[in-house]
Amino acid sequence: MGNNGNRGVPIIDKERCKGCGLCIANCPKKILAKSKELNSQGLHYTVCIDESICIACGACALMCPDAAIEIDKFVEAEAV
Ligand code: SF4
Ligand code: SF4
Repeated sequence: MGNNGNRGVPIIDKERCKGCGLCIANCPKKILAKSKELNSQGLHYTVCIDESICIACGACALMCPDAAIEIDKFVEAEAV
């Protein structure tokens, strides 16, 4: 952990997600995508396809109109 610029992971609540795609469009690392599976509302929710390069910028969480994403930031290791 902590290599590759990996600073955290997005935690996506698939049942809150309505599949609008705003987070996908705004992720600078392009690591968000629509699920193949459906959630209980019959919607394609967002999944993270490569957590190892998430920079925990928070853009996805900020854009989400349904507050379906939280960022689990790793403990700061860079302020040495
Ligand atoms: S925190 Fe930033 S890099 Fe990570 S998934 Fe969200 S938008 Fe992408
Ligand atoms: S912005 Fe929110 S509701 Fe829209 S696809 Fe992303 S997680 Fe789902």
